[in-house]
Amino acid sequence: MRKRIEDEYTDLQISRQRKYQLRMLRDKRCTECGQPAVQGSRCLKHLIKARERQRKKRGLRRRYHNTLSYRLQELERAQANNRARTARRPVARTSARSGRN
Ligand SMILES: [Zn+2]
Repeated sequence: MRKRIEDEYTDLQISRQRKYQLRMLRDKRCTECGQPAVQGSRCLKHLIKARERQRKKRGLRRRYHNTLSYRLQELERAQANNRARTARRPVARTSARSGRN
């Protein structure tokens, strides 16, 4: 059997799931999947999932685009675009133009 995790949450009268969440929160990791959390309590994927889940449940119509998950989503999209653009550029041409050889 695996050794029991001994920490400040071990003896609390709370569910195993809640202990997991508190440990993840303490270690700055996503409380749902354990990936490193960008900011707050969840990774970007689960921030978005939680956001959409809550919108649906509460019947919300508006989107607050200045909110963390939207800004991170926007940032990730920009980075993906950048990667695609640099990957498409031919390598030989850029090194010839730099004139360092
Ligand atoms: Zn996650």
